[in-house]
Amino acid sequence: MATAASLGPCCSGIQAEAAGPIEPSAAAPSLESTPVTELRGVGPGIAAKLAALGVETVLDLLFHLPLRYEDRTRIHAIGDLRAGGTAFTCGRIEGANVRFGRRRSLVVVIGDGTGTMAMRLFHFNENQRRQLRQGRRIACHGEARAAPGGMEMVHPEYRLLGDEEAAPIDDRLTPVYPAVAGLGQTPLRRLIGQALDRLESNPAIAELLPEAVAVRHRLIPLGHALRTMHRPPAGTSIETPLHPEHPGRRRLAFEELLAHHLALRVQRRRLDARPAAAFGRGDALARRFIASLPFELTAAQRRVAREVRDDLARTRPMHRLVQGDVGAGKTVVAAFAAVVAVANECQVALMAPTELLAEQHCASFRGWLEPLGIPVVWLSGRLGSRERAQATARIATGTAAVAVGTHALFQSQVTFANLGLVIVDEQHRFGVEQRLALRGKGEDGGLRPHQLIMTATPIPRTLAMTAYADLDSSVIDELPPGRTPVDTAVAPSQRRPEVVARIRRACARGEQAYWVCTAIEESAALQCRAAEDTARELAEALPDLRVGLVHGRMAPVEKDAAMEAFKDARLDVLVATTVIEVGVDVPNASLMIIENAERLGLAQLHQLRGRVGRGARRSACVMMYDRPLTEAARSRLEVLRATTDGFEIAQRDLEIRGPGDLLGTRQTGLAQLRIADLARDLPLLPGVERAASELLARHESRIAPLTRRWIGGGAHYGQV
Ligand code: ADP
Ligand code: MG
Repeated sequence: MATAASLGPCCSGIQAEAAGPIEPSAAAPSLESTPVTELRGVGPGIAAKLAALGVETVLDLLFHLPLRYEDRTRIHAIGDLRAGGTAFTCGRIEGANVRFGRRRSLVVVIGDGTGTMAMRLFHFNENQRRQLRQGRRIACHGEARAAPGGMEMVHPEYRLLGDEEAAPIDDRLTPVYPAVAGLGQTPLRRLIGQALDRLESNPAIAELLPEAVAVRHRLIPLGHALRTMHRPPAGTSIETPLHPEHPGRRRLAFEELLAHHLALRVQRRRLDARPAAAFGRGDALARRFIASLPFELTAAQRRVAREVRDDLARTRPMHRLVQGDVGAGKTVVAAFAAVVAVANECQVALMAPTELLAEQHCASFRGWLEPLGIPVVWLSGRLGSRERAQATARIATGTAAVAVGTHALFQSQVTFANLGLVIVDEQHRFGVEQRLALRGKGEDGGLRPHQLIMTATPIPRTLAMTAYADLDSSVIDELPPGRTPVDTAVAPSQRRPEVVARIRRACARGEQAYWVCTAIEESAALQCRAAEDTARELAEALPDLRVGLVHGRMAPVEKDAAMEAFKDARLDVLVATTVIEVGVDVPNASLMIIENAERLGLAQLHQLRGRVGRGARRSACVMMYDRPLTEAARSRLEVLRATTDGFEIAQRDLEIRGPGDLLGTRQTGLAQLRIADLARDLPLLPGVERAASELLARHESRIAPLTRRWIGGGAHYGQV
């Protein structure tokens, strides 16, 4: 890819031009309020095809940027053709013949005085055969390849020229757009040309950024940005407009990210305007709770607990994200918040993404809170109807101070007497929509519950500020003392016997091991079958060891029994599907084997590895893989071998896969982006944040049009 330094002269020229005056003209309708059907040649059929591309207005059409470019601004000498290069050539036909090789083809030899090349057509008709005859002038655009007889192009785009006709040289790069069947490049180029003409005649109609903001952040005017993206001038390299630093792309990505960020900030402002119960009391009980713990809180836990305590004392609802690596000890901070809420006579709901994890939280909370006289009730989708009715009754009357469960907690039949705090253990599983939906719960007498979200997926700071701009964020960036870093090894699956021997040695020392099976698809059935097979094989290979099995399709009692047995060291080896990703805490387990680690993402692998290294003994993780490894999979495994720092892993994940994957696509926090790419445009984010503050402080009236332009009414962020 081109570097910033190699950007052509056209770009420095663009950069020098400052954003012009930008008061929207009253006379002309804005491009976003002009439907595409107003363009020439757009009937219902074309409009439907455009809609399939997400294009409904003239501005949408302008935001439909080229995927790549072709250069037909200069003629390539045939003698200079290089294999693999795409080129535009012009010459005279020296001969044309049908060849009968493995496949019949029409071979047209073209010369321009510097050399000759062949144009080869496998599909041709009589008409073409007649026209492509010796002596005719022809222009071709295509990829050159080396063939036994010299350079050739297979099915290039070509055009026959009149004898006196000049070669059809363009004065700008040719854009290649994302297209759909029935709406190809030629009509798209023509339609976008019409849209550009409208913009040309009144550039101010599209501009929404205040001039001061554009100048400070070195943003070229929107009209100019769109023009250079759709029509880069001759002399521009075809890579240049694709570069993130290209002034046109940069301007568009900046505005889009700004719109999304503003939508979240506006939403946050709206949330802050709601009243919440201020928890003024409870410090004595909180101190008793901390004193009762079997360990000292780490400095990071104390800091985050203080941040939470301060939030809870305010009359506006807390919206705080607590990030912390696996095992950092987030749960106890959540319990601390719960104690404060209960001391202020409010109820607490703790929601986890899986039954297993919710059960573990329930056990932890009961262990910590019941000795303080705080009753904890369990509510899961699996409860029988009588138990369920009992639990919901206790929640409704308020005799249950704390309710722990899965999303069953938030079904509409469940009502809280006085919900004051919602805790969500996100573990990168709840999407932004669920996060927003939760906020509707427990609104009672106009007071909104405080909200605490825990996530084990560390989010790079810049990304958190943009994608989670509606949340405050705290980081537990320290592990409890006594943990030893996990040794990580990567091994091809052929070395399975050595891995099995390693398990034998570890268990002979009285330690325990996990063996995690993965499946290609998200097919639970396949994954469970693989786990069953593996458990059987391991039991045969390790006859002296006790091998257990836990997978998602087992009955809950069986599953619990297996987990319990492993926890109590009545099992040496636990074969599992990725269900153990969340939940279990077995300090005596020192070995984690992950089969087909190449199928899992970085975050998930990091989570799994975090299941060992919880005690003081030296622990190891072996990631096995099947060949061949893709480039991305190789990088992932390499990252894990190199570091155990969750934040660094998250940063690398962002680089390798992009933020959609890092957070789970549902969870980037941002709706679909059209032009910006969070991974590629990460460097823009600090500027975006600052520009957003400028708009919020001084240009309120621009905010709604901006968010509407990019997010369409802001429905995605608006459901509060
Ligand atoms: P996570 O952040 O992954 O949710 P947990 O809250 O499950 O981590 O904590 C992991 C384990 O560490 C638990 O067994 C918990 O009791 C223990 N723990 C938490 N804080 C401390 C601490 N300050 N010192 C020692 N152990 C701790
Ligand atoms: Mg946890």
